[in-house]
Amino acid sequence: MLTGKIARMAEIEVGHALKNVIQKMEQALQKRPKTLPQIPPRLVAVSKTKSAEMIITAYQSGQHHFGENYIQELEHKGNDSNILEQCKEIKWHFIGNLQRNKINKLLNTPNLFMVETVDSLKLATALNKACQKRETPLSVMVQINTSAEEAKNGCPPDQANEIVRNIREHCPNLKFEGLMTIGSFNHDLSKGPNPDFQKLIECRKNICEEFQLNPENLHLSMGMSNDFEHAIEVGSSSVRVGSLIFGARQYTDKAKGDNPETNNDIK
Ligand SMILES: *Cc1c(COP(=O)(O)O)cnc(C)c1O
Repeated sequence: MLTGKIARMAEIEVGHALKNVIQKMEQALQKRPKTLPQIPPRLVAVSKTKSAEMIITAYQSGQHHFGENYIQELEHKGNDSNILEQCKEIKWHFIGNLQRNKINKLLNTPNLFMVETVDSLKLATALNKACQKRETPLSVMVQINTSAEEAKNGCPPDQANEIVRNIREHCPNLKFEGLMTIGSFNHDLSKGPNPDFQKLIECRKNICEEFQLNPENLHLSMGMSNDFEHAIEVGSSSVRVGSLIFGARQYTDKAKGDNPETNNDIK
């Protein structure tokens, strides 16, 4: 638990960092060519490994969308009594690898707003079935492995349309909202736009053509602390920013084995 002076310092820092990120997002949007869909980007504050206090602080600074990539941690934070009491409008995004046997745990999270990581027909079908009792459909994105790195989750780009079709036609308890990618980390922008983001844009174009959708209505979730400005310039409508808001993450050695960041998604 943070107390007194230290807590106050952390509050000022998180509030300040948030403001900074939002300002940079606005500037990046100004640079987006007017020929691209002008969906204003949403900020998802990625709070993994960070405390409930820090989440509450960010919430009190006006941040409502939060992202977690580990089911257990999301379930725990989503049910935290202080968060429930003080963050009534909080919107949780699940952004990690979702195993089918963990779906019920995931759905046990109050204020679960969106699952950004649906990447197979089987997963969509299982999630749809588990959502039968929900009052409203659960928003989902299809995660695409644009960099074709084996260690990353996401479906290959050429399977995206089939998954989208399955969701739209056979999953009435899910609402297809867009596409998500992580992409390669060490892309050198002096060599041109990040090809993974371009790939995701192309996937959206294909999907919009096949299903007669307006690209303005389909989200692209791409961009993290190190590349969200570039992502917004090229059309991202949802950026997932963690360390720039909450500070660098620290993992204990024991926790490492459990952490999707170190064993699959993010190295
Ligand atoms: C951790 C994580 C992020 C945020 O990463 P930062 O570099 O801290 O901004 C974004 N997306 C996913 C899927 C993550 O797991």
